[in-house]
Formats: sequence, structure tokens, C-alpha cells
Amino acid sequence: PDKSLPEMLNDSIAKYGDHAALHFYGNEFTYRKVGELAGAFTAALQEEGVEKNDRVAIMLPNCPQYVFSYYGILQAGGVVTQVNPMLIGKELAYILADSGAETIVIYEPLLPVLNQIIDNTSIKRVIKVNLEGRDTEDSLAIGFNEFLRKAKRPPQPAAINANDDVAILQYTGGTTGRSKGAMLTHRNLLANVMQTYEYFKDAITPGEERFLTVIPLFHVYGMTSCMNLCIYTGALSIMLPRFELEEVLKTIKKVQPTSFPGVPTMYIGLINHPKVSEYGLNSIEICNSGSAPMPGGILRTYEEKTGATILEGYGLSESSPTTHSNPYFGTRKPGSVGIGLPSTDYKIVDLADGVTELPAGEAGEIIIKGPQVMKGYWNMPEETEQTLRDGWLYTGDIAYMDDDGYLFIVDRKKDLIIASGYNIYPRDVEEILYDHPAVQEAVVVGIPDPYRGETVKAVVVLKAGEACDEKELIAYCRENLAAYKVPEVIEFREELPKTNVGKILRRKIREESV
Ligand code: ATP
Repeated sequence: PDKSLPEMLNDSIAKYGDHAALHFYGNEFTYRKVGELAGAFTAALQEEGVEKNDRVAIMLPNCPQYVFSYYGILQAGGVVTQVNPMLIGKELAYILADSGAETIVIYEPLLPVLNQIIDNTSIKRVIKVNLEGRDTEDSLAIGFNEFLRKAKRPPQPAAINANDDVAILQYTGGTTGRSKGAMLTHRNLLANVMQTYEYFKDAITPGEERFLTVIPLFHVYGMTSCMNLCIYTGALSIMLPRFELEEVLKTIKKVQPTSFPGVPTMYIGLINHPKVSEYGLNSIEICNSGSAPMPGGILRTYEEKTGATILEGYGLSESSPTTHSNPYFGTRKPGSVGIGLPSTDYKIVDLADGVTELPAGEAGEIIIKGPQVMKGYWNMPEETEQTLRDGWLYTGDIAYMDDDGYLFIVDRKKDLIIASGYNIYPRDVEEILYDHPAVQEAVVVGIPDPYRGETVKAVVVLKAGEACDEKELIAYCRENLAAYKVPEVIEFREELPKTNVGKILRRKIREESV
């Protein structure tokens, strides 16, 4: 595609102007209204002197203002810097300073968090969004509205070169280390929307779908699958600012979404609700799962209890994000993330040399080429050189392909545990733990060991009302796993640290375990 994202929005306004685009606690905004408010935001930014390529940060939970500001910034030629609203202190200061953003759109209650570190950033202009009035007719916040009123002239859409101009800086989740800003161009983002649409075309009716937007939009998965794909297909995005089980179930029952891009921890939460089968989850045609491995047992239980179908896929910030998915029609393989999206090349290469292509069944690093692959990392030429080689994106994930081309993610290179020279993939151990009836969540990390170099530790959350001790769980693992993979230590916790997208923060658990 050679269109920019604002051009994509304009196409949808032309086709679906009167259709509802956003739903937020009973308020709805049509496509035309979204266009007007995004335009007003562009005009206000321009009034304030924001120019092409200026970075503008958004630090908001899911809400309509997210969409208005995102498209408003892009239309002014700006670069959206996506900021996780859970970030605080140094991590937040790092991203803001690294991006060089001078303007931020922020959820009002987060102002104290920003003020603590604002002197270490280049932020000069703060636009606050207050969602308190969300049940009233005018749910736009005062700060935001005031800002919109600054515009004295109509917006002047910037000339955008879709192939080259960076649309967003998507900071990686930092699950494995320092967060890096992936530069995604307009082309990257629109390509991934079109690839996803092409792949699921048989299950998507333009102008008629309803997406449950509960995964956060600041995360690349939510941004593409819940915002940009919705706009492209003229769908309604049902926005929820956080994953609250009761609220999610009530919303599903009431608004009957047809699509639910989710993450494994959300599906785990849902199946552990005692009355999940009474909420009509089978209205949802597609439940996508991505961002972390979906334990096989959870997938089966979810489908049995709800009658809905989970399609697991795979992607990363650096590829806008989606590269693989199980198909809607056609063979789904549990444990696999499916086959490549249209126009996506992929191969498995030797971990040691990064070049030799491996045959089916052998695990190596998965590398990817396609229009959704990023331009590079912002301000990080060396990291870019390591990650993008000859146009191939080195994902850092270990995977193998079967004879049909289905991809199986084994684990991340960085998470591999090496104990007495044996390679242990945390995921193998976690799968077994998840199959234990008392276990709700489990994560496995390598901890230093004087004899084995590293050894296996599991951190486990039990289901409410279930009891099980370390000895019993280790004995169970011994019956189901090769001896060298059995956890030496099991720690029980009430909950696990997670990223805002619900991904278990392995790095934090590892740090706490050393
Ligand atoms: P960082 O890269 O900074 O450590 P992060 O992992 O949170 O942070 P993302 O780009 O959000 O960065 O996540 C991409 C990663 O998520 C992939 O590289 C892969 O390891 C993992 N992932 C995504 N989908 C799946 C899946 N279905 N199964 C297993 N792993 C997955």
C-alpha cells in the first residue's frame, strides 16, 4: 500500500460515515465524528507549532480520545510515541526522553507520575484527558476540549510519504531487556492491517463487525488489531479501558462482539469465572490469541466452556505486529501459531550462524521478511544492524516448522535455560504445570546454580480454593518431565507481575529470584 493512515481513515469515512466507529460506556461516535475530532486535534497541534516528524506521546488507557489524538497527530505529519500508562519513574523518563517528544496526551490521574520525571524529558506541552464524565452526553474531557478549541484555522494535512515516513515509535515491552523504539512507517502499519484482513477475509464482513477492544491500544497488537483494522473494515470498536472480568462479561453479553483479539491471561481469567458459559461468548466468531504462548489445556477448556474458537497467532512490535496465525477456515493446529500472513516470507535458520536454513522439524531462529517489518530502531543503529539483516527481521524467537509450513514457537532465545549443558525451554515445563488441576498460572525461569550453571525455578499461582505444596508439584513434574527439566524450586505467589498487555514479566521474576 502507498497510502498513509489518515488517508485510510478518510476512505472509511467516505464509505461508512454514519456507521458507529467507537463505543465507550454507552457513548458512540460515528466515523464522521472521529474524522472531525481527529481533524480538530490536527488543527490544534498545528496552531501550537507542531510540525512534520515531531514526536507526540500518547499515554492513555483505551478511550475515544486515543483514536482522535492518534489520527490527529498522524495527519499533522507527527510521529505517535506510544507510552504504556503503567510506566513510572526511570522507565517512563527513558522513553519520553529517548523519543524527544515535546507534547504528551495523558490520562489526567497520571499527571503526578509525569510531573515527577518531567524535568528529565523534553515535554513542554501537556494535554490531559479526563474520563470521569464518561456516562454523560459529552464524554470529552475539559483539558482535551480546551485544546481542541485552540485551533483558529482548519487542519492542513501534512504531505506524507507512506513508504518512508515513520508513523509511530512502538517501544518494545521490555520483557527481555531495555525497551527499544521500533520505527513503524505508515506503509508498515497499513500493510499489516491489509494482510490481516486478507487472511481473515472470509470471516469479516466490512461495515458489520464489532471488535472487543480491551487489549491496550498503546501495545502494537491492540493498535493494529483493534483500532486500525476496525477502521479499515468499517467496524465498531467496543472500547474498555481495562480488563475487569465482570465488566468484560457484561459487555460481551450486551454488545455481542464478533471479534475478540485477546491474550492468554485474559482467556485464563475468563475460564476461571464460575459462570462464563452463561454470557454468550459464542457470539464471538474469532478469538485471536497472541503476544505469549497459549497453553494447550487453556485453549481446550475455553472452547469447551464457551463454544467460541481461539485462533492463535504470532507477532512482534518490530513487525507491526502480526506475521502468523491459524486460519479461520482450514486447519488449526493447537500449539502452533499457524502459517504466514499473505506477503510474509519466513524461514528457520541455524541459531549459531543465523544463515543456514533448517529443514522441517528442526528448531532455530525464526526470521521474517515482509512489508510489515519495521524501518529500524529509533536512535539505535547497532541494534538495528543486528536485528535487520539483508531485509530479514531476526526475531530472537526459537521455532520450528512442520511439513505443512505451520510454525511452532519453542521459546525466546533469551529465555533458554542451560542447566549442566542441557537446553531447557521454560515453555515445556510451563505446559506441564498448566495441566495440573490446581494451577492457575505458572512461569519458569533459570536461576544461578553453583553446580549446574543454571537450574529451573517455577513460580506458581494456584486456583482459588485449591491447595498444593512444593513437594507434591515437584513429584507431579517428575512423572511428566525428563529429570533435567524438573523444577528444583517452586515458589507460590498470590499473583504474577505482568505487563499491561497481560504478558507475564519473566525478566522481573528472574531478577527477583537471583
Ligand atoms: P522485548 O522485546 O522488549 O523483550 P516484548 O516481548 O514484550 O518485549 P513484543 O514485541 O510486545 O515485545 O512481543 C513480541 C514477542 O512476544 C515475540 O518475539 C514472541 O517472543 C512473543 N510472542 C508473541 N506471540 C506469541 C505466541 N503466540 N507464542 C509465543 N510467543 C509469542
